[in-house]
Amino acid sequence: MEKIIVVGAGFSGATIARLLAESGKDVIVVDKRDTIGGNAYDCIDKNGIRIQPYGPHIFHTHDKEIFDFLSKFTEWNKYEHRVKAKVRKDKVVPVPFNLTSLFELYPKAKAERIKDVLVKEIGLDKKVPILQLKKHESAEIREFADFVYKNIFYIYTMKQWGFKPEQLGEAVMNRVPVYVSEEDRYFTDEFQYMPKNGFAEMISNILRHPRIQLKLRTDAMKRLTFADGVIYLDGKPLDGMVIYTGCVDELFGYKYGVLPYRSLKFKFKTLKTPSYQESAVINYTTSHKFTRISEFTKFACEPQENATVIVKEYPQKFKKGKNIPYYPIPIEKNRQHYAKYEQEAKTYKNLYLLGRLAKYKYIDMDDAVRYAMDLYTEITGDTVDINDIANN
Ligand code: FAD
Ligand code: UDP
Repeated sequence: MEKIIVVGAGFSGATIARLLAESGKDVIVVDKRDTIGGNAYDCIDKNGIRIQPYGPHIFHTHDKEIFDFLSKFTEWNKYEHRVKAKVRKDKVVPVPFNLTSLFELYPKAKAERIKDVLVKEIGLDKKVPILQLKKHESAEIREFADFVYKNIFYIYTMKQWGFKPEQLGEAVMNRVPVYVSEEDRYFTDEFQYMPKNGFAEMISNILRHPRIQLKLRTDAMKRLTFADGVIYLDGKPLDGMVIYTGCVDELFGYKYGVLPYRSLKFKFKTLKTPSYQESAVINYTTSHKFTRISEFTKFACEPQENATVIVKEYPQKFKKGKNIPYYPIPIEKNRQHYAKYEQEAKTYKNLYLLGRLAKYKYIDMDDAVRYAMDLYTEITGDTVDINDIANN
């Protein structure tokens, strides 16, 4: 019988497995970790606080179909994420940089003038990417853009990626535009929630289906081999398919070299206080080696009377076998490097790459669900009908 093996129990692997199971196929999902949810995994610490060991994850999407799909597997807490940037010792302003940030950092008369120019040239309530603002025909706007670039983007981006904003381009920099408004939410998507009992439980519910067999602590590469267009399972040609959500260079034994990723080192701290900082996340945009401090008790959780948990993120070079590949680095040179692996993957008719690592794409959780839905259509020829999926 045809075997369907999904490698990875994160958002991507869980979604594709569930959709295939719903269509009557038996699916085996393996993950080398002993936890479910990939990097979105969360758990409750000894003080009863929900923490995210692989970094702060906030759910947001404009796509109702994705929200409806996930709502079958969780209840939600309404949560609108707000972030501030510490630009100086005594100055903490909203990010995305908005009109409030403008008035906080400029003398009033100058701020009024810049606001008028922005409203005239860009438009009230509009969002504009920083790299576009920097090239604006108005000298006054360019001067303002240089100020925002210097105080919000340049140092943070160099810390996070080791590259300048211009080198990373729109794929990265357009994620956090400048707002010509007083909007202070980090995301403006229609659906912004946190799963009531966490991401791990939600993904575990996605995987709970009689046709899905889940195996944790199982490294797929110990049993699968890939050679000359044929996939082998335990040394025998596989009758079936593999949907792979891990690192594509690992899949092919690094034959074209290790792909560059960005890693992070997280430093967690439990503090005996109900609140540590004024906002759920504070970005350190002009100083320090870490990029941001997140405080988990502010992510729509029940605050605790006497404890809070914070995490600082220290970006690192990825070193194979030493740390975790968190972010693909979306610059042209790396895309060309990745293309070699992508070509290689195409020589296997029963291999599908999916997700942030295998597609080498800087995607969010909702994108991971969307790509899995698209892959379902590619494999089966059917479109996803959310109404056909049973609630858990
Ligand atoms: P992953 O979550 O990486 O899952 C891949 C899984 O495959 C892992 O569990 C891994 O163990 C397993 N695997 C790999 N190789 C093998 C193997 N050989 N054998 C068995 N198993 C294997 N997105 C948002 O929407 N909002 C946010 O706020 C947000 N914040 C983020 C913060 C950080 C620090 C990071 C790194 C990412 C953030 N994201 C956020 C992005 C989000 O994590 C991803 O979009 C999403 O988790 C991708 O899911 P995935 O299943 O493709 O990959
Ligand atoms: N960014 C920045 N300063 C900020 C916030 C973001 O320079 O205060 C840039 C930085 O390059 C970052 C990118 O915008 O990597 C995307 O930010 P986002 O918050 O989406 O990053 P993520 O949460 O995915 O790490």
